[in-house]
Amino acid sequence: MPMTPDARVDLDRFWSTIEASADIGKGRPGGLSRLTLGDDDRDMRDLFCTWCRDAGLRVEVDAAGNIFGQRDGTDNDLPPILIGSHLDTQINGGRFDGIAGVLAGLEVLRCLNDLGHVTRRPVVVVDWTNEEGARFSPPMVASGCFVGKYDIDWVHDLIADDGAGFGDELERIGYKGTRPCKAGEIDAYFELHIEQGPILHAEGRAVGIVTGGYPVRGMRASFQGQTSHTGPTPMDLRRNALAAGARWLTAIDDLGWDFAVHDGKATAARLTAWPNKPGILSESAEAICDVRHPDPVTTRVMAERMRRAVFESAARCGCDAVIEDEWEWGGDIFDHTLIESLRTQAIRMGYNWRDIDSQAGHDAYFLATHCPTAMIFAPCKNGITHNNEESCDPSDFVAGLNILLHAVVARADR
Ligand SMILES: [Zn+2]
Repeated sequence: MPMTPDARVDLDRFWSTIEASADIGKGRPGGLSRLTLGDDDRDMRDLFCTWCRDAGLRVEVDAAGNIFGQRDGTDNDLPPILIGSHLDTQINGGRFDGIAGVLAGLEVLRCLNDLGHVTRRPVVVVDWTNEEGARFSPPMVASGCFVGKYDIDWVHDLIADDGAGFGDELERIGYKGTRPCKAGEIDAYFELHIEQGPILHAEGRAVGIVTGGYPVRGMRASFQGQTSHTGPTPMDLRRNALAAGARWLTAIDDLGWDFAVHDGKATAARLTAWPNKPGILSESAEAICDVRHPDPVTTRVMAERMRRAVFESAARCGCDAVIEDEWEWGGDIFDHTLIESLRTQAIRMGYNWRDIDSQAGHDAYFLATHCPTAMIFAPCKNGITHNNEESCDPSDFVAGLNILLHAVVARADR
């Protein structure tokens, strides 16, 4: 039986999966601390796979631990539609970031089961491994590997702060799959995500149609100094790598303020040092920073100042510096036909919607380099996220879920 235009998802059923997920890997009150490839992540994956199999989906896991639950279409030789996001969280994460997107995909497929609607193309729900990068850096590593940005051996060799290896942890929790981590032809990728910003909630909007991502540039720099005694070593002979790294971080924070008036942002994200003890100057330090701005040219200007600041900070402390890694994402990356299809559904169903830019990184950014991609944002209270107080009501997802349902089916049936 074909789906009718008035079909709607089962909001209670969707919410019950959110609540079940919120019981696995609890963090601070109301939040989650479900770091990728840990025992809690395994338990959540197990539950998700059970839900998928119960919904009649064919479950496959690839070499990076990405989980795919496929609902067959009438012509399975056609490239599939993917709906995905991530089930891992930040160390002080919320219950919705990423999770809502995976469970939205599941709800769409369950809804099609209820309706007895078989799409022409297969539709696949996906959980991408390690979107957050909270345990293994960089973030979005498994969706990046999927589209050919990273090599699978490089991914397996990643080491967490806790000393664990990515490949070893995949094996330990039973999610080193046999399917190669390599995208075939994909017809379209959809991702629903909470906004993680305050705009939709402040404006009382039901949903955001994401038109692009803030261009982001980031880098990891290392600073090389020399250990010596904190007492007798004269200031002009000191080579304190910790101070060099700290100077870079504060320079980046200042940079963000310089561009804040036009919504530029700069993040001093991380600083580690060795030996990082009292009584001794640090020999080495490593730091991570990024900049973002709605205008791509301004993002490049900010990135250039970020780069210069690495060496100025090092020189000021008598240290050497190396930029170890650089990355960029965002911009006008999403597919205009898919964006239009989301708007069409929002208008048809009468939701209070707006176009919106994404300011965070998402797996969708990597998928967009491979296939037509679009994102939908659900409001979250005051934009609080990467925090245990991240909060949404069931009603925040009504518009996003139903737009997703109808846009996916329209795409899959064409
Ligand atoms: Zn996320």
